[in-house]
Amino acid sequence: MTTLLVNTIFRSTEGEGIHIGTPQIFVRFQGCNIGCVNCDTKESWDFDVSYTMSLDEVLEKVETLSQDSIKRVSITGGDPLHPSHVPSLIALVKELKARGYYVNIEAAGTRIVREVFDLVDFVSYDYKTPSTTVKTSKETLVEFLKAYGPKAQVKAVVADKKDFEATFDAFHFTRSKDAPLVPWVLTPCFEPGEEFPMERFQQVVRLNENFGLPFRVIGQQHKWVYGATAKSV
Ligand code: SF4
Repeated sequence: MTTLLVNTIFRSTEGEGIHIGTPQIFVRFQGCNIGCVNCDTKESWDFDVSYTMSLDEVLEKVETLSQDSIKRVSITGGDPLHPSHVPSLIALVKELKARGYYVNIEAAGTRIVREVFDLVDFVSYDYKTPSTTVKTSKETLVEFLKAYGPKAQVKAVVADKKDFEATFDAFHFTRSKDAPLVPWVLTPCFEPGEEFPMERFQQVVRLNENFGLPFRVIGQQHKWVYGATAKSV
């Protein structure tokens, strides 16, 4: 029997990136050892093997939340692409596709998992900025864009000018290697406890203007609607 280490399954609207505002069901996997310091889902870091769901239970929950009308699923985490998840993740994606769902996967930008990326409809790939303290390989990013550009976006959390400049540098690196142009989305960092990071948001918008508007700036809608610490929204 296929079992999955799931943190939570809920219905909401996409809160960030180019699909912002789109109703969908989120399947959040447990477990992540990537360690972004500004991670907003640290509650998903543990791999709690005492709490698993069968594939049938996950699908039943998705179908119940779908009510036959919301045929989109976003698979997130944690790190859903952690090697320990991949076999059950593939089984889940195959079943969702067989049932007619559009499937997005949130990729941390640390690895390309072709057997998953080939199956899903869309890959949201992180470029990890310096403020995360995690590094995204620019060479791997180029490889990813060349293979999956038509169904991809790159997202970068930007806390300051250094983050912006690193993202700008990565963007130009990919273009210099003839990687396809895809939407690059800057997500102004939103610290827990903040009402709304207006100044940081405006700084990111200004930097983008000063550097020739290469990016889209899209905030995290769910955080200003429900607050920065609300979960499953
Ligand atoms: S990859 Fe995602 S879940 Fe993991 S630490 Fe970074 S932001 Fe958090």
